[in-house]
Amino acid sequence: MDQAASNTGPKIGFVSLGCPKALVDSERIISRLRAEGYSLSGDYANADAVIVNTCGFLDSAKAESLATIGEALEENGRVIVTGCFGVEAERIREAHPDVLAITGPQQYEAVVGAVHEVLPPPHDPFLDLLPPAGIKLTPRHYAYLKISEGCNNRCSFCIIPSLRGDLASRPIKEVLAEAERLVRAGVKEILVISQDTSAYGLDLRHAESDWQGRTWRSHFLDLCEALGELGVWVRLHYVYPYPHVDRVIPLMAEGKILPYLDIPFQHASPAVLKAMRRPANQEKVLDRIVDWRRQVPTLALRSTFIVGFPGETEEDFQFLLDWLAEAEIDRTGCFKYEPVAGAKANALPGAVPEEVKEERWHRFMQAQQAVSAKRLKSKVGQRLDVIIDEVDVEGAVGRSPGDAPEIDGKVFLDGENGLSPGDIVPVLIDHAEEYDLWGSVAEERS
Ligand code: SF4
Repeated sequence: MDQAASNTGPKIGFVSLGCPKALVDSERIISRLRAEGYSLSGDYANADAVIVNTCGFLDSAKAESLATIGEALEENGRVIVTGCFGVEAERIREAHPDVLAITGPQQYEAVVGAVHEVLPPPHDPFLDLLPPAGIKLTPRHYAYLKISEGCNNRCSFCIIPSLRGDLASRPIKEVLAEAERLVRAGVKEILVISQDTSAYGLDLRHAESDWQGRTWRSHFLDLCEALGELGVWVRLHYVYPYPHVDRVIPLMAEGKILPYLDIPFQHASPAVLKAMRRPANQEKVLDRIVDWRRQVPTLALRSTFIVGFPGETEEDFQFLLDWLAEAEIDRTGCFKYEPVAGAKANALPGAVPEEVKEERWHRFMQAQQAVSAKRLKSKVGQRLDVIIDEVDVEGAVGRSPGDAPEIDGKVFLDGENGLSPGDIVPVLIDHAEEYDLWGSVAEERS
């Protein structure tokens, strides 16, 4: 189970499954419950009830959600289900008729209401004072900043818009106020998340607000520029390569935001991209990547890809491999296409047999490993800033600007145990393997 405990008020156990966006939902629910005087239990046995925040994106995630609900029922017996998979309440009830309540994604009020029914709130709301940044499930030195919910795109393999609705951005003032609170609470790295970060503010018609003596639009570029004023690491996730993304590269060159872009390309073949109904014209992306790297040679690109999408031919797949080698995407995740109930792609002709998907997945991973190894090898002998995540007797483990927590590689600093999580230190890289780096703290610290 996630999270530590405190000892006052009815105790809630919390299990958070799924993506960073779901994690942010979990943080909001927990912050709200803590503000009302509930406390958290770190295990099932001591909890008065358990909330399971589920993921409903892929069938494998739904299976994991059902298994987790089953485990919580067995260990505790009083279970409230929320999150993306909550929209399939009937399916959950069929498998687990004893769950107490089921709510969908972002239904904070409904989840908290369900908790009130099961465990009335304690009388003294001041029992637990809320820390200034709310409750975070991530370590204290980094935090996810969710800038919008939902998505205006309609990718054929995805049901997120039907789960989470169209794009709904938070006004820039609200986002920046939260970022400031996080920094005041000690956060050293902000990870910007949404379904489509580069579309931020479209639904608000880029409404303006004042912050720190300047007027800012609810717009991707203003957001990046303003976050760059906070003096912490700022990392951008889920960015689509719309033309205006080019204009954020100079902020990376100036060191205002991290030289890192997480762009979920999903494929490279024009035919497959068309069948996927992906947003943003990706045809000129290779030229743009070359130009971005000319401006910021340290730029790290992360992406996810799907192999075995309906209709993907061997030529399409080979096109993807060639593209990957040319674009030199530093970090990738690769998924075998899985039909998601309710997705339009299920009706497309040309289903790819499972053994072909498997074979393509292995070829993709091999090709990606070669790219990653080549990119990391070029860092040996360089001095990189590294943010420290963990320290133990053997040394410290951190990440470079090119590594997001949980999904990318690590930098191992063997024997460096005088550091603390959240420290940012200059490191001389002396060894590289396929996905990780090794080094030691360079003489002077930044
Ligand atoms: S951009 Fe496409 S894949 Fe991403 S959430 Fe929107 S519809 Fe889904």
